[in-house]
Amino acid sequence: MRAATLALIGLALVLAGPAAHADAVLQAFGGAYRDGRLQSYVDGIAQALAPALGLPDGAWRVQILNTPEINAFAAAGARLYVTRGLLANARDEAELAGVVGHEMAHVVAGHSYFSTEHAAEGGFSPAQEFEADALSVQALARLGYDP
Ligand SMILES: [Zn+2]
Repeated sequence: MRAATLALIGLALVLAGPAAHADAVLQAFGGAYRDGRLQSYVDGIAQALAPALGLPDGAWRVQILNTPEINAFAAAGARLYVTRGLLANARDEAELAGVVGHEMAHVVAGHSYFSTEHAAEGGFSPAQEFEADALSVQALARLGYDP
């Protein structure tokens, strides 16, 4: 994802709030990817990570995006986005949970309304990255993953 596009999405979020946010993300990332099996798989990972990160469980809404780009991001309002490219390229569940947990941890730590990884990394300070890693590694260990 190009940084300029992400910046535009971020601006739209601030101006318009969560509902428009979801629409903007869908438009920018190829729309929704509908696969019931993958959906429940990622839902399960997010719902397990939430309490491990100290959040109420069951609250995260997961959206799989129909793009080959490898990307994931989380937003306030307990929204988590993962691309089908990420799902296709993750080596195993531990790797996927690691990416998802890191993104959720940015939100847990209050780093940003809109966080994104990989292509547009740079929106967070090194200290914020360290904090997100520390939080997610703890949560993953609690769930029995080997991060
Ligand atoms: Zn990060």
